[in-house]
Amino acid sequence: MANDIHVIRNVTTIVGYDENRQGHGYLSDGDVAYDANGFVHVGGRYDGVFAHETSGKDRILLPGFVNVHCHSGEEPISKGVFEDEGTAALWGNALYEYSNLIEISDSAVEASLTVMLGDLMRSGVTTLVDIAGPHDTWLLTLAKSGARAYVAPGFREAAWHVEDSRRLDLVWDKGRGREAFARALEVVDAARAHPSGRLGGIVAPSQVETCSAELLQAAAEAGRSRNVPITVHAAQTMAEHEELMRRTGLTAVQYLNELGVLGEDLIIGHCIFVDGHSWTRQRTDIDLDLLADRRATVAHCPVTFSRSGMVLQSLGRYRRRGVNVALGTDSYPFNMLEEMRQAMICARVAGRSVFDVGTADVFEAATLAGARALGRSDIGRIALGAKADFSIIDLKHAAMQPVYDPLRNLLHCAAERAIEAVYVDGREVVKGGRPVHLDYDGALAELQEAQDFAVRHLQANDPAGRASNVLARRSLPPM
Ligand SMILES: [Zn+2]
Repeated sequence: MANDIHVIRNVTTIVGYDENRQGHGYLSDGDVAYDANGFVHVGGRYDGVFAHETSGKDRILLPGFVNVHCHSGEEPISKGVFEDEGTAALWGNALYEYSNLIEISDSAVEASLTVMLGDLMRSGVTTLVDIAGPHDTWLLTLAKSGARAYVAPGFREAAWHVEDSRRLDLVWDKGRGREAFARALEVVDAARAHPSGRLGGIVAPSQVETCSAELLQAAAEAGRSRNVPITVHAAQTMAEHEELMRRTGLTAVQYLNELGVLGEDLIIGHCIFVDGHSWTRQRTDIDLDLLADRRATVAHCPVTFSRSGMVLQSLGRYRRRGVNVALGTDSYPFNMLEEMRQAMICARVAGRSVFDVGTADVFEAATLAGARALGRSDIGRIALGAKADFSIIDLKHAAMQPVYDPLRNLLHCAAERAIEAVYVDGREVVKGGRPVHLDYDGALAELQEAQDFAVRHLQANDPAGRASNVLARRSLPPM
């Protein structure tokens, strides 16, 4: 309908997109008009027809965030369980030994997804990439949430096994990997054909070390023949780095390049342990140039990794070398604004300088760099013709006061607390800080049951048979 246009009058600050500079800028006291197809007016006075009108006084309009890497699956269930744990002999990483211990039922997968979506959208995410095992109601729930979502059904040929908390072994089953690959492609195709028009698919070999060279190449080929992105975890831990060095003599980035997988359509989660990282034994520094030359994207998720003592060295350095670094949340708290703050702090600590990245750099990573990773020029920006994906921020919120530079207040202080509403395709998906289309509270209750179940089963899933209070110590002793 031509006249289903909504106009927001006199928005105090619009974070608009400047086509000439190809970057964001502040627009003051202007109107914004949009319909379900996108923005039809940004800044200045709108004199066209409209069906609805609201006031933008004391409001900021922000482009929706693009989260290029998150996991529904069992991640939300592990919240509060393993944050203080890790395998000492594997650089303190908890991934291999502890994530294997969490057992999850099909109904809990659904609750997990709902909570993740609610939390992400409340923090201003309008586009997300969910890397998870496929399940029956995945597309249905993603579509119901109102978000723009890419499914990335993971598949792999090897499983992780940690013996005696000291060594990472891979247990190969190529037949199962190939079956999972075929199933993943069906899900990717179903998402792309989904009638909502807001779903997409990504080909996602799970980890660089758990897939054979042949499978990685077949996955890239499947993505390229469909013109969809590819994503893989690579250079995410030192255990994986050492495994690849032993197997191929190459870093993950060099190996992906040699296989022909490294390209503009590849999103690498998390790409921390490149040859120039201080923890590696390499004394070269070529990986960042390879990433930049091939125009691959790094999915940077600082919260989860810095929680385990690992940090990308550094966001500013990657950016200055020309690498497209986008942001993801990986695991809980699934809060994009907290992720952005952590990205800034980690960069300044790892880069040993306040000048490593600025607020605008991190904001760019959470919006335009993510859009670039997904091959899209119609999201991550408030511009004519772009999708009407945006957040409304309450400038009068205590955490936003006093205000000199609104983005700084939002990233350094207020985070999602100041987000009033979030829209995707011009439709409200978060209102008053609550997801509109999801049973978020119901899912939270289910998640508690699922976590109780998982904790009861930790011991049975542990090859060493340790008790749950040994595997996941509480932070304080009982009194
Ligand atoms: Zn991940």
